Amino acid sequence: MTNTNHFPAKPKVGMISLGCAKNLVDAEIMLGSVLQRGMEITSRAEEADVLVINTCAFIDSAKEESIEAILEAHQQRGLNKRPDQKLIVSGCMSQRFARELHNELPEVDAFIGLDQIRELGAIVEEMATRPSRLRHGSNASEMHALLFTDTRPTYIPDYDTPRFRLTPAHSAYVKIAEGCNHPCSFCVIPQMRGKHRSRKPESVLAEIRALVCEGVREINLISQDTTYYGMDLWEAKAGPRQPVDSARGPTLASLLREIQQIEGEFWVRLLYTHPAHWSDELIETIAECDKVARYIDIPLQHIDESMLSRMRRETSRGHIEELIHKLRAGISGVTLRTTFIVGFPSETDAEFETLLDFIGRSRFERLGIFKYSQEEGSRAARMSGQLPAKIKNARYRTAMAMQQSIAHDLASQKIGSELKLLVDQPHIARSEADAPDVDARVVLSEPAPVGDFVRRTVKGSRGYDLLA
Ligand code: SF4
Repeated sequence: MTNTNHFPAKPKVGMISLGCAKNLVDAEIMLGSVLQRGMEITSRAEEADVLVINTCAFIDSAKEESIEAILEAHQQRGLNKRPDQKLIVSGCMSQRFARELHNELPEVDAFIGLDQIRELGAIVEEMATRPSRLRHGSNASEMHALLFTDTRPTYIPDYDTPRFRLTPAHSAYVKIAEGCNHPCSFCVIPQMRGKHRSRKPESVLAEIRALVCEGVREINLISQDTTYYGMDLWEAKAGPRQPVDSARGPTLASLLREIQQIEGEFWVRLLYTHPAHWSDELIETIAECDKVARYIDIPLQHIDESMLSRMRRETSRGHIEELIHKLRAGISGVTLRTTFIVGFPSETDAEFETLLDFIGRSRFERLGIFKYSQEEGSRAARMSGQLPAKIKNARYRTAMAMQQSIAHDLASQKIGSELKLLVDQPHIARSEADAPDVDARVVLSEPAPVGDFVRRTVKGSRGYDLLA
């Protein structure tokens, strides 16, 4: 390979990863491919010969944040006098909008899609042969960024996919499936991430065994639709609305039973479960497996029947209420986390009141509220009755205020109980009721070794957090 500019033979690669845990796992795989090629990784953007911005395109504000990160990286490249530094844009925004951004962001040297994440090492090598766009001054605009994207992603990692973990040593995300088959009218994720595809149970189990051997104490299972796990692997293909049945092939319940058999002290946490694919078997499995955290992340988005149908959630109010009842009755001490969207097109005051009433009655331990965002290319974006920001903001504040008082009350009820905690920092830990990055913390009065499980009695609460 001829190096036509000031690019080192063994370039250093930096990464700025935005968005969710699924994007973070993609960042880890990209860095794994870089290490496999013998290159170096740096956490200092100014030192990087190639800087990757792993973008998010979940909602408009996430896209804006991604664009700002790209422009900021470009500005820093100028300020740090690094004209040879190359900028690569990856992630959901690149997957979906690379062709448009290609013209609008001449600062970028290459765009890569979701199917190309394991090829980052090879792509960086290819960049080395490209002249610097900054050194070419007025000719820079004539040099187009390289495009490495496919229209519909199909990639899914395996247990032996090289990966450089970006999470603390004791906690890891494991992506058990990718893509989504649901038609939620507000969401464009299926257009970006493609159809649901599960990893084989053996692949997931091999990865978890290796992580536990390395000393990981918390495994967070992630995907777009975790409760649909395995159903696309059944011999007789299952549609997204069919009942979950372990007799027909792999399911999340059968996977959890196998994870329970893995030797070692760890807990495994379920994130992003869709209400449509819960089964009695899954509830019984969680109740019986002591390595499965009593924590369920189940985004519900709304409860009003008409809203659920306009959102095309494929669940009904009756189903959700019965499911919440079964989860609480079947898994003692379970913590439920959910999210709701307020200000969806045509949401009336009465429909919002129905949601508030449900939040008040259900007393979710953890709850997030999103203001509806009109996503280009989604069905809901074309609906009439788009609501002004003022209404969305007011509904957001009302729902958050209600939840805040519920969460503070639930936290104060924990005083006096003994909890098993995973230590994140000498004075900061989490119980099984708290997922990393999104939930509350337990502040420790006495320090404890990072990465250990400890038992402490809760002595007080401060807002959402506990003191122990
Ligand atoms: S379940 Fe709905 S909201 Fe979630 S990723 Fe799939 S389409 Fe989007």
